[in-house]
Amino acid sequence: MLKKQIEAWVIRDIGATEFDHWDPVLRFATRLSLRISIIASLMVAGILTLLHTFGILLNPLARDLLIGCGIALVVSFTLTMLCSMYMGYAVIHLARTRLEFQQMSRTDMLSGLLNRRAFIEDLSQVERGQLLILDIDRFKQINDRYGHMAGDDVIVSVAGTISEIVGPPHLIARIGGEEFAVLFRDADLAEVQSVAEKLRRAVANRLVEAFHQTIAVTVSGGLADITPLRDFSAVYAAADRALYLAKSSGRNRIVHERELMRGAHLDPVVLDRPDAAISVA
Ligand code: GH3
Ligand code: MG
Ligand code: MG
Repeated sequence: MLKKQIEAWVIRDIGATEFDHWDPVLRFATRLSLRISIIASLMVAGILTLLHTFGILLNPLARDLLIGCGIALVVSFTLTMLCSMYMGYAVIHLARTRLEFQQMSRTDMLSGLLNRRAFIEDLSQVERGQLLILDIDRFKQINDRYGHMAGDDVIVSVAGTISEIVGPPHLIARIGGEEFAVLFRDADLAEVQSVAEKLRRAVANRLVEAFHQTIAVTVSGGLADITPLRDFSAVYAAADRALYLAKSSGRNRIVHERELMRGAHLDPVVLDRPDAAISVA
């Protein structure tokens, strides 16, 4: 009980979680140094008074107290300040390293987007919106024809295109090999559909330059509604079914899950640039 109270007091007093920049360290060091120097001066005053009582010190008590307490104050303040700053530097360094690790563990190294785990974590906090899954069309053929490294460049280029078009508060992630997800928070469906269409068109209109080769790329997308009653797997499964319909009806298109319910037959999309996708088909 007492141990817990002491622990709670120490944690509250140190405010260790805030030690990620210099200001709180300086505030803490000054507070601690003042406390220690006052305690040290009081201890010195006590000792000097005791020594005087036993007649060990011969100078006037006031003079000894002034000199002794003054030295104790300056020395203990300086030493505590130096030690606290030294410790503070170590804690700041640790806090920054921890933050970097946290960021790294949430980032997909190839594309720089959020990774699958971070995306699922963030999506589970959202009650309403839309999930768009985008999948590069016939990507295996891109790898086979141009090589795996060129395939990686295609992934980076598609990630760049998505990032240029979709910004905060929406989230973008690479959730699989050539699969991306966009979480539209609190957005109107018509607006989301128009952004998704813009994304599809932007990817199809951009040729990727990789290893002196020009690669035409298209993506297909599945859209599903995020509601409070659906968890990630349910929303993902709905978006995936819509994506499957987009693939099976010719690729290079975006399908909303509602089109599945209607049992829609979708005509192939007319390509904005005729060589897109065809060059890898
Ligand atoms: P579909 O149009 O139906 O999506 O066909 P697809 O060829 O895109 O799909 P499929 O699932 O058959 O192939 C995906 C390929 O993506 C297979 C895998 O080798 C490749 N892949 C997965 N991760 C990476 C990666 O990080 N880099 C590269 N270059 N290729 C990857
Ligand atoms: Mg694919
Ligand atoms: Mg895929």
